[in-house]
Amino acid sequence: MMSLSVIAKALNDGDLALAWIGALQLGLPELADGAAVNRMAAADRLLKYNFNPAEPRDSHGRWTTDGSAGADPQPQLVTQNVPSPATAQFDPPSHVHFSGWDKLSPKARIGLARTGDLYYEQTGGDLTVTSGKRTPQGQAQAMYDNLQRNSTPHYSNQAAFHQIVEAYNDAVATGAGQQGAVDAMTSVIEQQVSQGVYISAHLTGDAVDIRSRDMSDEEKDELEEAAISAGARVVIETNNIHLQF
Ligand SMILES: [Zn+2]
Repeated sequence: MMSLSVIAKALNDGDLALAWIGALQLGLPELADGAAVNRMAAADRLLKYNFNPAEPRDSHGRWTTDGSAGADPQPQLVTQNVPSPATAQFDPPSHVHFSGWDKLSPKARIGLARTGDLYYEQTGGDLTVTSGKRTPQGQAQAMYDNLQRNSTPHYSNQAAFHQIVEAYNDAVATGAGQQGAVDAMTSVIEQQVSQGVYISAHLTGDAVDIRSRDMSDEEKDELEEAAISAGARVVIETNNIHLQF
């Protein structure tokens, strides 16, 4: 099944034949399940092109403007109503709100885009990234906040984690304050990075956090499923869902 984004891109590119085939396919899915209904709702985007899959077709399956086959082999409805690429006001669908795309690793970029597409297909909703690639200082701040809240996620490299926690504990014990603690933790993380040890995939741009606190349980499930399909390892956190590619 061709996806709506492919059809939309085809329309945007002026590739009417491809868009046409996609829309024909789109008319076929079962309508009983929620996903298909959501897809049809998303198909509203296509209505601004006056693109009507129910238009009568001639014996070759072509659409005709008046319900009868004409001599012209072009699909009249489409050619007459689709704006030319130059005039079409169509923004490519971007269902992931994120300002740090360029800092992500290529595999994370592809995986996140795919996750966003799949999630949108299933729910019609967008995703918001709250954290992407982090500097050692950004990672130290994130870990400081978690330690303050007692909501530290599990780190697979426990030795590296304990080094950072030790820096945190020492700073807290000596009354160094937040800045002192974050600075001490940053130094430890920088030293680990210089030895090729990454406490978090955020340091290499291989991970993103998606805001989940405003999602229903069903939406969280859809996100998890979409991310896994896109090749991510998923960690459920308090306010976010962490995706690692
Ligand atoms: Zn994360």
